[in-house]
Amino acid sequence: MEKRIKELTALLNRYRHEYYTNDNPSVSDAEYDRLYQELVHLEASYPEWVQKDSPTQAVGGQILKGFEKYQHPYPLYSLQDAFSHEELLAFDRRIKTEFPNATYVAELKIDGLSISLSYEQGKLVTGATRGDGSVGENITENLKQVKDIPRQLNKPIDITVRGEAYMPRHSFMLINQERHENGETEFANPRNAAAGTLRQLDTSVVAKRQLGTFLYQEASPSQASSQTAVLEKLHELGFSVNPTRQASGDMAVIWNFIQTIETEREQLSYEIDGIVVKVDSLAMQEELGFTVKAPRWAIAYKFPAEEKEAKILSVDWTVGRTGVVTPTANLSPVQLAGTTVSRATLHNVDYIAEKDIRLGDTVVVYKAGDIIPAVLRVVADKRSHQEPLVIPTLCPSCHSELVHLEEEVALRCINPLCPSLVKRGLEHFASRNAMNIAGLGPAMVDKLFAANLIQDVADIYHITQADLLALDGVQEKSADKLLAAIAASKANSADKLLFGLGIRHVGAKASRLLLEEFETLPHLMQAKRETIAAINGLGSVIADSLVRYFAKEEVHLLVNELRVAGVNLDYLGKKLDKTAQLFGMTVVLTGKLEQLTRIEAKDKLEALGAKVTSSVSKKTDLVIAGSDAGSKLDKALKLGIEIQDEDWLRQL
Ligand code: AMP
Ligand code: ZN
Repeated sequence: MEKRIKELTALLNRYRHEYYTNDNPSVSDAEYDRLYQELVHLEASYPEWVQKDSPTQAVGGQILKGFEKYQHPYPLYSLQDAFSHEELLAFDRRIKTEFPNATYVAELKIDGLSISLSYEQGKLVTGATRGDGSVGENITENLKQVKDIPRQLNKPIDITVRGEAYMPRHSFMLINQERHENGETEFANPRNAAAGTLRQLDTSVVAKRQLGTFLYQEASPSQASSQTAVLEKLHELGFSVNPTRQASGDMAVIWNFIQTIETEREQLSYEIDGIVVKVDSLAMQEELGFTVKAPRWAIAYKFPAEEKEAKILSVDWTVGRTGVVTPTANLSPVQLAGTTVSRATLHNVDYIAEKDIRLGDTVVVYKAGDIIPAVLRVVADKRSHQEPLVIPTLCPSCHSELVHLEEEVALRCINPLCPSLVKRGLEHFASRNAMNIAGLGPAMVDKLFAANLIQDVADIYHITQADLLALDGVQEKSADKLLAAIAASKANSADKLLFGLGIRHVGAKASRLLLEEFETLPHLMQAKRETIAAINGLGSVIADSLVRYFAKEEVHLLVNELRVAGVNLDYLGKKLDKTAQLFGMTVVLTGKLEQLTRIEAKDKLEALGAKVTSSVSKKTDLVIAGSDAGSKLDKALKLGIEIQDEDWLRQL
């Protein structure tokens, strides 16, 4: 038992780290909860073996580098979980023995991340994450970008409130679509996307991502008499408060509400993972108090995970643009979270080995972030005598030998002429964020490739109307449309072209940064590794990849062919003004400014060529300090960073 306790502690800590710090969990919440419950039970029976770092002793989260720590004036708490009707009834009994006429209010448990907002005289002064419950991260500047968080309340009061920030389902889908197109890793679910967004160091990204909030608690001492009254008050102050709730002293009524919400939750525009049942009276709440980590007056009923069992009928291996070969299982169809699922990802060969997934196995499938079904684990007692899965050694597309690089979990085809690789590369070149050639999607690429009309991206610019009309099922009208789109793409800014070339690690954003700097593709092709790596926001991985790519002679021939075909190689976006007075400087604003608002000051600084960030570090070149500047100024002094005031900025 001691061994199992240690094992569970280590495993859960790893998952917690993935979840809280990297926003990238490798197991489903349900799997985590199952292991956690197992540990809770074991620890209850063998308290002498409870590990010091046991996750049952902590609240959650970790402090990241990059944001200032924020000491919460009132600690944030976690909630006790309930996974069954019985556990809710037990909670009801516990409460009723102390307060026979207690009433409850049940609220939706929003699946986002907790935030705390402090207002002084009705003005938003700080916004923070939960962190470990007593110390969080100061993410004020990011939270100011969230539209439904009021910067100014309807009344000039001092108050600290708690709530949940979340990402609506539709924003989540859009972001992942974009990340997919850029070759970036997708967020596993909306909660991780929301957390990742709020821990972004670039506040403008936050503004674009359309987060929402629901506030539900007054953390500073409240004048209200009940939770219901608190919710009404928060609403009146201008906060977004979730309208769905149920108040009753009868647990049967609350249970009914829970079941109704469970069947309707798919229709909500955001994700919830349960229902929180709270004792309504704040006086009773105070009497009931807290355990080490959670209030005694509340319980979170967690919905059973949307997991189903299905049988693996076969496995497809497909080659992506970068040569990575991904396994996808074909399943016996099951209903999962409102849709029929018949395919699920198996991630990669290491995952298959780790989970020992075999053909014919019954497996548990779930929806990661409700869009990409994935196989979670094998149902061991339903296995009869399946053989291990045959892992391909040859590329399913070109039959050349696959490699399994040591530092990678994936299998890779490294044949640059592999038809799958080439076709995915052509599709990428034509995709929206690259050269944006409408009409050149997978089906058309397939046809053109099969007809030997395109082998590389330069060939796209030699396609004629006659070529297209000779293809199966292509009409004159669509042929002309495609040709027009191809012609129009020649005028694109060169950063689109660079991204379209599909160089490893070189995404849309890096492409733009590179061309802002080098202005033309030929200049970039001659750049030194060190010069590239020194560009703010890039670094050596991208620099190495570019230098390796541009060292190839065939790449030079390709670019030349594109140039001859009339494709633009110059950057046409906004040119950086290198003569601007603060060009290339990283500036931090702190303290209260008299004449300019923060936003105005930031705009001015950016117009002068500076990059404005929120925390002081060794990379900071200049700090503009207003009155009452606090820890940032201290830090700047300590680091010997140049400090100026508002007047100085206005003079510029
Ligand atoms: P857990 O993280 O499972 O311990 O659950 C506690 C978390 O649930 C809190 O820290 C909040 O972030 C979150 N939560 C979401 N909705 C609510 C709500 N209506 N009331 C209280 N907590 C909520
Ligand atoms: Zn291949």
